[in-house]
Amino acid sequence: MPTASHTKMISEEEARKKILETIRPLSSRRWSLSEALGSFAAEDYFAGLPLPAFDNSAMDGYAVVASFCKKGQRLQVTGEQPAGRDKQLRIAPGEAIRIFTGAPIPAGADAIVMQEDVTRDGDAIVINTGVEAGEFIRRRGCDLTDGQRILAKGERLRSATIALLASQGIADVAVGAEVNAAIISTGDELVKPGEKLDPGQIYESNSALLNALLQRCGAAVNLVEHCRDERESLIEGIKRGLRNHVLIISGGVSVGEHDLVKDALRELGAQIEIWRVAIKPGKPFLFGSFPAESRYSTGETPVGPTGSPHDESVRPADKMPAPRACFIFGLPGNPVSTFVTFLQFVRPAILKMMGATTLDLPKIPAKLAVDLTNEGDRAHYIRGKLEHRKFSPVGRQESHALFGLSQSNALLRLDLGQSLKADEIVDVQIWE
Ligand code: AMP
Ligand code: MG
Repeated sequence: MPTASHTKMISEEEARKKILETIRPLSSRRWSLSEALGSFAAEDYFAGLPLPAFDNSAMDGYAVVASFCKKGQRLQVTGEQPAGRDKQLRIAPGEAIRIFTGAPIPAGADAIVMQEDVTRDGDAIVINTGVEAGEFIRRRGCDLTDGQRILAKGERLRSATIALLASQGIADVAVGAEVNAAIISTGDELVKPGEKLDPGQIYESNSALLNALLQRCGAAVNLVEHCRDERESLIEGIKRGLRNHVLIISGGVSVGEHDLVKDALRELGAQIEIWRVAIKPGKPFLFGSFPAESRYSTGETPVGPTGSPHDESVRPADKMPAPRACFIFGLPGNPVSTFVTFLQFVRPAILKMMGATTLDLPKIPAKLAVDLTNEGDRAHYIRGKLEHRKFSPVGRQESHALFGLSQSNALLRLDLGQSLKADEIVDVQIWE
């Protein structure tokens, strides 16, 4: 039986809290560095090697004793030290050793003179510049010391992080699992792009939007389906979708006669945790779940780690892994509502499942271009353009206004009753 909490409109903060309390990170796995870009570290990593690992030359040139190198000084070249093999060479004042970038510094040397700053003369060189001790030597540990943390649990692996791990000799890394997602769009008025449009119909654009947003957060989209506003169509679509960690349903969650998603979910045994949030746009937002234990009762087949259904002919039912929970996000169909509710509720949930610690969109301070007041009873997300540190609302601020959204690059949240004056400094969220 639905309780009052299922239908009562709750605040955006309550909704977010409830979602993030319900969602748990998926179990981690080891991935090779080449696969790990964009995933989140499942543990802290510490340097086992300092960087650089030994004193070495920053230039192709000559290793020298700086105090013996006046301009015009002639030095005897007594050996050559390439990169890659420490020949354990040694020099005395009056001598130089030919050296190359990355090569270990010979004992006794305290500076490198660039080859451009000397004149070679047989087995000798003449220095054409003043030389200071320490010049062009990269000291052991000056970049990174042994034992220093190089990656924190929950941090995203970026290209440079991957290079840093490789520089430590690490070949694979423990990261949070990938989230599998399904998208279901609903609505009898919708036509797939590329097909013919009849009067009264519109093109279906939320699947494309959600697919792009999911890819941006690193989720794998396993299923994109369209359902008609009919009970059977929705039930069949939902059954297929809930084989994934996350099922996102666009449209059909409002209060009209054609908004059948909530009933279809209930009929299949979903727990509806949230329906209707004080957020504009996006009020009919729905969040629910199919707990793991309820899954077989829906008649759907569990999936393995790759997201493909297990073949029951080769895997008897009693040997099948326990079905996992599926979280359901019902997003209102107006494109801007879909966009805003995805970013405020779905994105942090997916990031948490993937093991991230930073779940919020990045915020940057900006000067507000106009006065703004929120007289409504819901937090209002204003779409705007952030340019030269100034935020200006852009396009029509209505939930259907997709062109306006496409021209924006930032969101400003106006709390209930909040009034802001032009030129005030505000924090805006950016997403791309
Ligand atoms: P609904 O949330 O189903 O009541 O839909 C609200 C509005 O969003 C209606 O004008 C729909 O036509 C529109 N809409 C719903 N789903 C989509 C979609 N997938 N693509 C584009 N517009 C949509
Ligand atoms: Mg609809």
